[in-house]
Amino acid sequence: MKKVFKILFLIVAVITLCAFVFFEFASSFERAWFEMWTEKPLTNAVTEVVPKSAPEFSGKNIFLTFDADMTPYMKKEQETGKVKQWYDPELISYLEKNNIPSTFFLTGMFTEMYPDLVKKLAANSNFSIQNHSYSHLAFDEDCYGLAADNSDKERREEIEKAQSAIKLVSGKAPTYFRYPGLCHNAHDDAIVAEEGLSIIKDEFSSGDAYMKKAIDVFYNVLKNINKIHVIVFHMGTKNTPATTAAIKLLVPKLQKLGYVFKAL
Ligand SMILES: [Zn+2]
Repeated sequence: MKKVFKILFLIVAVITLCAFVFFEFASSFERAWFEMWTEKPLTNAVTEVVPKSAPEFSGKNIFLTFDADMTPYMKKEQETGKVKQWYDPELISYLEKNNIPSTFFLTGMFTEMYPDLVKKLAANSNFSIQNHSYSHLAFDEDCYGLAADNSDKERREEIEKAQSAIKLVSGKAPTYFRYPGLCHNAHDDAIVAEEGLSIIKDEFSSGDAYMKKAIDVFYNVLKNINKIHVIVFHMGTKNTPATTAAIKLLVPKLQKLGYVFKAL
């Protein structure tokens, strides 16, 4: 009988050890697998003919873009000290130090809250600053639970107020608009065009919103990299805690694969 217990004990110990090894090293295995996989030559990179003055959303050009969201609720969290700030200084300094062309889609409220940061971004020739609405109201009602605009008048105000705030603080006028939550329809596109701004048709969401693990953002981008040019990230704070680490993994990897970073 004693022997049976010994064997049972041995089996349980071996299973426990195997489980520990698997969970401890699973992410390393996963990462090694990706790296091998993504080194493959890119066979279906698309080359399009586009006017010289327009950004080339083609070939190996990659546009890293960062949305600087701000809602009245987020503003209150900052003012009451629940949040230190709604951007990660480490993300900004990484992009600055490594001279990575980047585009920042700013809300008007973010611009008003952090004028010094916005001035610094605007003064950097590698960076482009663009319009992401005034208070991040969704243009369509069903948009990830975001509060929505109630009328076309309100939609126009959201665009115009952000445009004014960004111009006032940075001295630069955005030429592109990005919808909060990326939600929109053809009617919204007509409004944006009438306001004199352009939209990007194919934007790829990195999935960094509420994502905890940088490796998941890294994987999401890399497995789609052959067919994307404009990638949406955020400013790497409470709502997007993995962004900075994901960028630090992605930038060297994409450079190694021959991609070139561009700003709008
Ligand atoms: Zn946004």
